[in-house]
Parts: sequence; structure tokens; C-alpha cells
Amino acid sequence: MTVLVKGAGVAGLATALELARRGIPVEVVERRADIGLGASHWAGGMLAPYCEREAAEEIVLTLGLPAADWWDEAVPGLVQRRGTLVLANPRDMADLKRFSSRTSGHRWVGEEEIAELEPDLRGRFGTGLFFPEEAHLDPRKALRDLYEAARQLGVSFRFGEEAGDAGDNVQVVDCRGPQAIGEIEGLRGVRGEMLYLQTADLCLSRPVRLLHPRHPLYIVPRGNGLFMLGATMIETDDNGPITARSMMELLNTAYALHPAFAEARIVDTGTGIRPAFADNVPSIVETAEGFALAGMHRHGFLLAPALAREAAERLKCIYASEKRRTA
Ligand SMILES: Cc1cc2nc3c(=O)[nH]c(=O)nc-3n(C[C@H](O)[C@H](O)[C@H](O)COP(=O)(O)OP(=O)(O)OC[C@H]3O[C@@H](n4cnc5c(N)ncnc54)[C@H](O)[C@@H]3O)c2cc1C
Repeated sequence: MTVLVKGAGVAGLATALELARRGIPVEVVERRADIGLGASHWAGGMLAPYCEREAAEEIVLTLGLPAADWWDEAVPGLVQRRGTLVLANPRDMADLKRFSSRTSGHRWVGEEEIAELEPDLRGRFGTGLFFPEEAHLDPRKALRDLYEAARQLGVSFRFGEEAGDAGDNVQVVDCRGPQAIGEIEGLRGVRGEMLYLQTADLCLSRPVRLLHPRHPLYIVPRGNGLFMLGATMIETDDNGPITARSMMELLNTAYALHPAFAEARIVDTGTGIRPAFADNVPSIVETAEGFALAGMHRHGFLLAPALAREAAERLKCIYASEKRRTA
């Protein structure tokens, strides 16, 4: 028995690695020319289970807590454990209080501590929340390293090919992300638009979230003056280019965080479609050919490790009984 993984986004690569770690032969088929060019390409790379709990089910927190350790082991040196800072302008204090009441793993910080954490924000915000246990990584680098780790464990890859029907004795793990919308029942698309800005005039060392009643924003530093700004949440699977409205809203909120963003260069823009179920919780779904890791929503990097591990454990049992049967 071999396993065919359809799709080399974060879900497919994490699953391939977990299967290879268990000695199961794996082939990954990716329809694009390279890994990670789907929704995963546009991700912020935040491993923020506590903050995400504000709008997500408890299971997202529970399954997401070990994610930073998993990534640290899989792609050593990429995880940055510097926490998350959540801020709001004085008129939006009610949002900050609400955020605090819906989350755990944080402490209130005042102006002095905000300045100690992020010196370039000195004097700009009087109160915030700090989530010290959270982490982040550069998703594009992480996927590249994950791919290399999987290859070293013997996973084979085919690029530029639509994965079709699998042959006999092949178990399929469908990790096609948003391409499975319309085929897996209940799956929908949630559009996320983002920007990359470059400026030498500002330094941040951790993800910063700015709460806003209509246009919440997060900024993830990538180093060397590069910042990822995200992200819209629009109920559609239209993955066309970022709209002028979304760009204006993201830029306005970034400017409210720090005016240095006014002179920043816009170096990239993009749209990713987050595949999601009604409850926004990812799931392992049984299919005619095997399983699907589906509905990663805004938690692909946070939750792919846990789901990949579970899928690999299930397939290990099938693999072992198949081996006994043919022995
Ligand atoms: C703007 C934005 C910011 C985000 N920020 C974060 C974050 O900070 N933290 C976090 O945890 N998550 C974040 N997410 C969510 C995360 O990006 C997604 O949950 C995740 O990328 C989904 O991964 P996937 O592997 O399921 O899908 P994808 O990354 O889309 O991968 C699916 C792959 O399957 C391939 N494929 C499709 N059909 C076929 C076929 N027939 N044959 C072969 N290959 C096929 C595609 O080409 C693609 O490479 C963010 C998402 C967006 C859009």
C-alpha cells in the first residue's frame, strides 16, 4: 500500500512528513510547478492559538498549543517565540476588553511595557494585551524546509500534474485546500487579502494586532524591514486580485498603527482563499479514496501539525493490517 497526497500546501506537506516518519511510502502530486503556491503562500505564519480563540472554538486552542513545538522540530530555527501584542486605539477600548474576556494566556500591558516590547511603538498606545506563549514563522521558508525534510525521508513529488483517480492499493489523502470546495460537502471559501510592505523606518519583532470595529489588522514582521499585513475575511471563493477598498482599509489601519507605513513600499499583494466548514474548524473527512484534510480556514499553519499526525496514525493502522494481510 502506498499513500498519494493530493496537493503540496501546508496540509499536504505536513501529512507527507508525518506519514514518512511512520515508514509509509508516500507520493505527493501537486498541480502547480512548485510547493506552497495555494492559500499557504499568502499566510501570515502566526502560531497564535490564544488569540485565535477570540473567534474560534476551544478545539482550535487545544489542537494549536503544540504547533510551535512541532514546527521547531520539523524545520529547526524558523519558529520565533516572541509572543503577540494586541493593541487598540483609546476609542476602541471596548474591543480590547472584549478580546481579553474571550481569550486566555495574556496579561495587560501599559505604555512602558509596550515600549519595552516594541520600542518603535513608544508613546503610541497606552494599553494592550501581551500573549507571551505565542509564536510565528515565515510560512514560505517553513514550507520550503518542510519539503526538504519530507524528501530526505523518502517522499517523492510530482509537479505540474492534476492528481486524478488513484490506482489499486493506494490510499489518498486529499489536501487540495480550496480546490475541494464544491466537492467536499459543506466546504466554503473565505477570501483573505494581504500586502507586503517594506520600510527601513520601523522595526517590530513580533506580530502586532490592531483591533478595530470594522477593519482589524495584523502585522507580521519578516525581518529586514519587510512586513506582512493582513487580512480581510470575505465570504466568497473569488480569488481575484486585492480590491482598492481592501487595500485602502489595510493601509489606513497600518498607518494608524504607525505613520512610518505611509512611506513604505508595497512590494507584494495577494489573495488566498481559506477553505472552511460552517464552524470554521478543520476536519479529517472520509472520502471514497481515503481521507481529506479539509477546512483549514485561518489555521492551516496552526492546525496542520495536529491533523496531519492524526491522519498519519489512522493510515498507519490501515498500512499495518494491509501488511499482515499480504504477508
Ligand atoms: C491572508 C491569509 C493569512 C493567513 N494567515 C494564517 C496564519 O497566520 N496562521 C495560520 O495558521 N493560517 C493562516 N492562514 C490560513 C492558511 O493559509 C490556510 O489554512 C492554509 O494555507 C490552507 O492550506 P491547504 O494546504 O489546505 O491549502 P493550499 O495551501 O491551498 O494547498 C492546496 C494545494 O493543493 C494543490 N492542488 C489543488 N488541486 C489539486 C489537484 N487536483 N491535484 C494536485 N494538486 C492540487 C494546490 O495547487 C495547492 O498547492 C492564512 C490564510 C490567508 C489567506
